[in-house]
Amino acid sequence: MIVTLDGPAGSGKSTTARALAKKLGALYLDTGAMYRAVTLKAIQGGVEPTDRERLEKISSEISIDFRETNDDQLVLVDGVDRTLDIRRPEVEKAVSAVSSHAGVRERMVALQRKIASSHPKVVVEGRDTGSVVFPNADYKFYLSASPEVRAARRGRQNEERGTKSGDVIGEINKRDAMDSGRAVSPLVVPPGGVELDNSNLSLDETIQKIIDSLV
Ligand code: C5P
Repeated sequence: MIVTLDGPAGSGKSTTARALAKKLGALYLDTGAMYRAVTLKAIQGGVEPTDRERLEKISSEISIDFRETNDDQLVLVDGVDRTLDIRRPEVEKAVSAVSSHAGVRERMVALQRKIASSHPKVVVEGRDTGSVVFPNADYKFYLSASPEVRAARRGRQNEERGTKSGDVIGEINKRDAMDSGRAVSPLVVPPGGVELDNSNLSLDETIQKIIDSLV
């Protein structure tokens, strides 16, 4: 069984997907973390977000693994724990440009399908998971929330992680505009997807709504 959750930054996808996966006993697949991992590696190697060739090379060579802990999921990049590094502001700034390259996406999508194929139940979250990665998913959801609510959530997340906040609303708007406006696999409500605006819903209410619509 595959459940996809797509939506813009701060729409509550990660928290919802993680909790939903736990409830269903499913694998939680965070596709955004994978584009962040490629971006981090590019920054570390001095590769510009416009350098298609070198980004494609990084995408083919990179190893990305997820490891479950009691209350978190670690992201290992080339065998090293980079869970916190991939959330840094410089990664956040460059990730939309990096993920706009078709070659980068092709490799990440192949990896996402491979990871999912070895698990009976998967909850996957991202921007194109219901439209491109798993168009035949059993259930597809599109989470959204008002810009103010999304910025407030992202600000809180940054605080919890101890990462710098800065102009959260400006950064979110910029990233959303790039993710929605790009030529390859833009952020869209996937065909057959259920839209859920959770501006006024708690996490539990959001999860309950999703669970209620799984038959
Ligand atoms: O979900 P998260 O904020 O971690 O995603 C980081 C970035 O990765 C997004 O802004 C987007 O540019 C890219 N992304 C993507 N396709 C996905 C998931 C994330 O392009 N399926």
